[in-house]
Amino acid sequence: MKKSISGFIVLVLALALGGQTQPLTRHDDMMAMLRKLDASSPLVSMTPIGRSVQKREIPALFFSKGKFAGRREQKPIVLIFCQQHGDEASGKEAALKLAAGLLRDGQAVLEKLDLILVPCANPDGAELKQRRNANGRDLNRNHVLLSEPETLALHHLFQQWFPEIVLDVHEYGAVSTWWVGQGAVKNADEMLGALSNLNIDAAIRAFSQDVFYPAMKEKVTRDGFIFFPYLVGAPVENDRVRFSTTDIDDGRQGLGIYNTLAFILEGKRYGSVENMLDRRTATQLSAMTAFLKTAAERGGEILAMVRSARARLLREIAPGERALVRMDYFPDPARPTIAVPVFNLEEWRAEVREWGRFEPLVKVKKSVSLPAAYIIPGSETGLVALLRRHQVQLFRLTAPAEAVVERYRVLHATGRIEEESPKPEFDLERTTAKVGLQPGDVVAWLPQRARLLLPLLLEPESSWGILTDSGGVASEFSAYAREGGTCPVMRLMEKLELSLEEIH
Ligand SMILES: [Zn+2]
Repeated sequence: MKKSISGFIVLVLALALGGQTQPLTRHDDMMAMLRKLDASSPLVSMTPIGRSVQKREIPALFFSKGKFAGRREQKPIVLIFCQQHGDEASGKEAALKLAAGLLRDGQAVLEKLDLILVPCANPDGAELKQRRNANGRDLNRNHVLLSEPETLALHHLFQQWFPEIVLDVHEYGAVSTWWVGQGAVKNADEMLGALSNLNIDAAIRAFSQDVFYPAMKEKVTRDGFIFFPYLVGAPVENDRVRFSTTDIDDGRQGLGIYNTLAFILEGKRYGSVENMLDRRTATQLSAMTAFLKTAAERGGEILAMVRSARARLLREIAPGERALVRMDYFPDPARPTIAVPVFNLEEWRAEVREWGRFEPLVKVKKSVSLPAAYIIPGSETGLVALLRRHQVQLFRLTAPAEAVVERYRVLHATGRIEEESPKPEFDLERTTAKVGLQPGDVVAWLPQRARLLLPLLLEPESSWGILTDSGGVASEFSAYAREGGTCPVMRLMEKLELSLEEIH
């Protein structure tokens, strides 16, 4: 009974709020618009960065006053990408408006930064009006495996230009039967998620929350929208409220792990893909404009901060330095509750509700020491291919060698729940042995640009690595995790002269 009443209220809400005012922009029409923009102004050029599963072009707009990336020492590069989830259309619609607006009156912003804008990262999902790509994969859970052409195109784009500032644009569903049953729905027009993985540079994480978020909030609020940090769950939904995941397989943290100032934006959606698209687009445009303006205002400071954090990626590994391979959210006695904007359906008004069970603190649950290098047998072609998709710097052994290495033997393999998701749990024995390395074996030295990423991918106890199922897809490397088996990844603990050639 209660369920049908809730369903009825959802229907009434959809009718009351609803009305289709702006049609969705189809892929072919978007491409035609972008080509026209390209031809209309020297400030922008359009280049496809790849093709989707169904061979649709994934376009990127490069905005710059003068040559793109021509003033790399003074101007940061900003990357904004939208619609990784095909049924979250407002990001693309706002991106198209943002692009036109920048050509009209974006001179001041483009004086301070260069911009890469990807209006639609999942063109097949957009055409099919579905979250996932045409292979049925959730692209925003594919930034570890990079098995899909769409995520691979984004990472290649990122690696090519190494932007300092990144925004991944999404929508969250505010109206669901479950929420309506509670008598209130989430009411933030825009939620911004900052970096939460503790491996990422502390100065960048602090800047996100203490400087960037408030500066953006001020602008979006001035436009008349409700701006709030990205919250996941609710006391009665997940048994707790926390900020967005510490996982690195999403677009924000998957690119943030290179010490990038990266965010995820979640605009409010209610009902179908089309419902109130004009209002949703206006809301996203406000937030994306606020993002760009804030990046422009703080460009010099951000450039210096990200540069020095990235220089630290290349510093020698310090004795005792560790990778943080597992973390979760925990309560903070100083902040037991959080005041959340909701819309009260019984009294039909916006209000703020105090939610308990707030768990705002990320804490480390497991860390491991860093080796001098990871060595992978040349026969593990799938794993080597994965590291190459991430553009990890790799070398191939050209002559046999002996080395003392550490390896992991899996004594017991079970599972656990972390951040409300199943994760593998291993009882490991770390053994040290002198082994013979063969020509063709692959070496990834530390430090390198992927300093933070490598251990998270390769350490068996990592919550976000090659052994973890991702977005409901079983890991192709799960055989490494069999009880009694030995993980083929070797840890070289001391530097060694090896005969090597770089893999390009
Ligand atoms: Zn999304």
